[in-house]
Amino acid sequence: MFGTGLLKGLGVTLKHFVETYTDDRKDVPSRYEDSIKLGEGWRVIDQPIDQEGLLTIQYPEEKRLLPERFRFIPMLLWDTEKGEDRCTACGICAKVCPPQCIWIVRDADEKGKPITRPAEFFIDVSICMSCSFCAEFCPFDAIKMNHDYELAVYDRYPQLVYDKEELTVPVEYYAALWPDQYAAEEEVRRKAEEEERAKAAARAQAQAEKAAAKASAPAGAAPSEGGEAKPKRSPEELEALKQQAAARAAAAREKAGAAPAAVKAGAQVIITENRIPAPVIESLRSLPVVRRLIL
Ligand code: SF4
Ligand code: SF4
Repeated sequence: MFGTGLLKGLGVTLKHFVETYTDDRKDVPSRYEDSIKLGEGWRVIDQPIDQEGLLTIQYPEEKRLLPERFRFIPMLLWDTEKGEDRCTACGICAKVCPPQCIWIVRDADEKGKPITRPAEFFIDVSICMSCSFCAEFCPFDAIKMNHDYELAVYDRYPQLVYDKEELTVPVEYYAALWPDQYAAEEEVRRKAEEEERAKAAARAQAQAEKAAAKASAPAGAAPSEGGEAKPKRSPEELEALKQQAAARAAAAREKAGAAPAAVKAGAQVIITENRIPAPVIESLRSLPVVRRLIL
């Protein structure tokens, strides 16, 4: 019949309208029963997706409980057990960051030798697009995504350029925000450490067996890997072998042609710190817009 769909739609709207009041009465105060109290009138509500009735959360007094995989801007992890940054200033996150909003300066000792830790680490969070590439590509689990989304400030610069201090959080904070992911990562780490320990023990045992076999072998004969002693070559035989090897190498060079291998087109040239003049670095550092610069 003409207009049936229209009536059905209006019925659904009416149902939701009525439920808003009936469910509200039914759920209050159960709506707040499992909520996390943050103080007088302030709470975090775990609102189920199938909830009916009153859905409005009275922000900012009430906030929704965020799912674990929610991500906003990155945070750097501080290993409280070791008392150091997890970051090694490898620069991978800065390379993969699509809008290039990460700026890292590697630390150096008093002799100028690079140290595997960042001296400076900046993220322009006004540019960050929360893609999480930096966290996914970091080989040291040193950068993860924070849940903190209340970042409003009056001025973009310099408030929204976060430095290392602002970005760094203890690893326990990450464990509390991302409990499942943290547990999975710790399990992988534990297994890798166990494997490493087993390998080290096997290596030590093999070395001990080799040393024992060497000690028990007759003098003048070096034991091979299979345990059999290899015959010793005379100096003349060794010289002849060297000459044969040199002749084979010369023949191979002749076959390949004398021209040196050309640099492949598109090969990446990596600019190292000592090729960038200090005044240029200083001027880059003072730029209001933070750009990527890996030294
Ligand atoms: S990829 Fe990880 S370890 Fe490397 S610089 Fe970025 S945060 Fe540090
Ligand atoms: S989340 Fe994405 S955009 Fe933001 S810093 Fe990481 S890689 Fe860059």
